This record gives sequence, C-alpha cells and structure tokens, in this order.
Amino acid sequence: MLLCDRRVHDRNILVANEPQSDWMLRCRSFFLVYNLTMSIVRDIAAVAKGMSVTFGEIFKPTEVENYPDGPGPMRGAKFEERYRGRHVLQRDEQGLEKCVACFLCAAACPSNCIHIEAAENTAEQRISSAERYAKVYNIDYNRCIFCGYCVEACPTDAITHGHGFESSSFNTTTLVMRKEDLLAPMPGSPAPIEPSTP
Ligand code: SF4
Ligand code: SF4
Repeated sequence: MLLCDRRVHDRNILVANEPQSDWMLRCRSFFLVYNLTMSIVRDIAAVAKGMSVTFGEIFKPTEVENYPDGPGPMRGAKFEERYRGRHVLQRDEQGLEKCVACFLCAAACPSNCIHIEAAENTAEQRISSAERYAKVYNIDYNRCIFCGYCVEACPTDAITHGHGFESSSFNTTTLVMRKEDLLAPMPGSPAPIEPSTP
C-alpha cells in the first residue's frame, strides 16, 4: 500500500514538471484573468444593487407615526383592524352584558390568566340576558399572551380584542384588569379613550 502511494506521488511530480506548451499557459492565464474580472464585476453589481435600494429610499417621502405626541385617543399610533390589544367585554343593544359566565374562555386560556366568578341574575337586578353573569371577570396581563383563544371560545361574542396597547408598567399589580376596566360603554355613550396603565 505504501509502495503504491509512493508511485502515484512520483508520477504527479513528473506530470507537474513536464514542460507546458505556450498555448496552455496562455489559456490558463486567460481564464485566471477572466475569473478575476468576472468576480470584480459581480461584486460591483451587488454593491450597486444594494446602493440603488438605499438611494431609492432616501428620496422617498418619510412616513412616521408621531406617537405619543400625535392626535386622537391613540396619540398618533395606528393599528390594523385585526390587532389584538387589551380585551373588551361587550354589551348587547340593550346595554346588557353579553358574558353569561360559562367559563369557556377561562378553560381555553393557555396562560390560565382569566378569573371569573359567576352570579345569578334576578328580577330586580339583570346584568346579562341569560341566567348568569360574570360578577368578577379579571384578566391578568402579566400572563396574557394575546393568543385570542378566549375570543374564539366565547359562544356569545362577549369578549373581543380591543386596540388598547399601553400596558407596560413597573407595578405588576396594575396589570390585573377587572371587569370595570374591560367593559364596553353603554350603547349611545361616547367611545372610551383607550386606558393607559401608569
Ligand atoms: S388572549 Fe390568550 S392568554 Fe390572553 S386571556 Fe385570552 S386565551 Fe388567555
Ligand atoms: S366571556 Fe364568553 S366564554 Fe368567557 S365566560 Fe363570558 S360568555 Fe363565557
């Protein structure tokens, strides 16, 4: 095996030392120069392509959202309609709460951050149109991941995502929102300004 390797090695040395014809040397030089030139051209084209994007953007009008100094309740922030922000507990046309305290949203929540306590409607005090209503409805935004499972699970469309987004806080207890924080306004009353958390 060693002898065989040695023979191959010697033969390669002989081939390498063979005098090369003039045209072979020229061909080799030509291809070297050609490859080098093409590589430089490709690099220049790539840089030019990148810079064309840069310069194209430089001369376009700048679009910025002037948040938080913009106008309106969102203070200049803009959202897509489907944006999942802080939840809203909806009311029906009569102003009754749509939530019937069925606990399906809490069961669907993967973060276990919905706490509900149910109570019975009475003839004197009707809160929802069904038998029961949510006496307590808390969402812990320390844990909510805005997945929307609660919204999908709700059989009465009582819980939806609003556009409230200013939820950062140094005090985590302020991130536990109660029913009063989440309830939609009575029909006919002015739309609420999205609450912000201190
Ligand atoms: S959005 Fe997801 S994590 Fe947040 S309360 Fe609903 S189900 Fe739970
Ligand atoms: S919000 Fe919907 S799913 Fe959750 S308890 Fe109320 S009615 Fe049931």
